[in-house]
Amino acid sequence: MPTFKKKGEVNSFNFPQGFKIDKNGKRIFLPKIGWVNVRKSQAILGKAKNVTVSQKGKHWFVSIQVEQEVAPPKHPSNAMIGGDLGVKRLITLSDGSFVEPIDTSKQTIRIKRLQKQLARKVKFSSNWKKLKAKITTFHTKVANIRHDKLHKISTQLSKSHAIIVLEDLKIRNMTKNSKGSSEQHGKMVKQKSGLNRVILNQGWGMFKEMLKYKQDWLGGQVIFVDPKHTSQTCPACGHQSKDNRLTQSKFECAKCGYQDNADHVGALNILARGHRVLACGEIDISQLVEAGTCLMSDHKAPMVLN
Ligand SMILES: [Zn+2]
Repeated sequence: MPTFKKKGEVNSFNFPQGFKIDKNGKRIFLPKIGWVNVRKSQAILGKAKNVTVSQKGKHWFVSIQVEQEVAPPKHPSNAMIGGDLGVKRLITLSDGSFVEPIDTSKQTIRIKRLQKQLARKVKFSSNWKKLKAKITTFHTKVANIRHDKLHKISTQLSKSHAIIVLEDLKIRNMTKNSKGSSEQHGKMVKQKSGLNRVILNQGWGMFKEMLKYKQDWLGGQVIFVDPKHTSQTCPACGHQSKDNRLTQSKFECAKCGYQDNADHVGALNILARGHRVLACGEIDISQLVEAGTCLMSDHKAPMVLN
């Protein structure tokens, strides 16, 4: 499983060699540290290649990377689904179902309050350190809640769908410029940084990584498609216009009158693009659509409406 690093929340170090694992796996020898007792959470299969020790809040963890030969898996399902990642709904699926956003507001409020208290303390004093540790514990809690939920959703999605189609949102680009230059300061910047915080809070990047490796394990696939106009294009007639989106959540086609939740429309279009990517074996869907080539007739507009 890949590790997700975030400054300050996780401290870790790695032993590529020199470590030894007890036969029954109850102890592990770490260079310069010696034998340490561990509680084994799962069997160590294959050859241990690498040991990582990490600290999360008050707890220490040992992860062992192993190498083993496995037969290429065959995915148990042959279903394909599109998902639209959003702010109001964490993910909306092309089958019409959706997942509510992860709520960590209670913890966030608590952290904010503690941070205010921290600012009033003498830096590096014992009370400051105590409070700082408490804040770290809350941060870990928030990360755990998020991690846990994303794991549950990704496992469920991965198990029941051989192919999952998502938008290729450049999360990094979207979250990079939130500070804004001196001229840019104002409402927009504030709104944008708020949205960025939500995006980060939802952990989209982490979610995609989880889906990718879970699909790898099961023999499935994740396809990323061009996100352009997915929420402005009518899944029934193909008409694409800003006017189709009268409000944030409602889609109404200006041409044919098709009505739906905007996120669901996004998911349907994402699924349709995934079908085209599979049919054409190409990733740059925008060019394909404009050139009018390689549109699968039976998949032009998947009308999976619940
Ligand atoms: Zn339409």
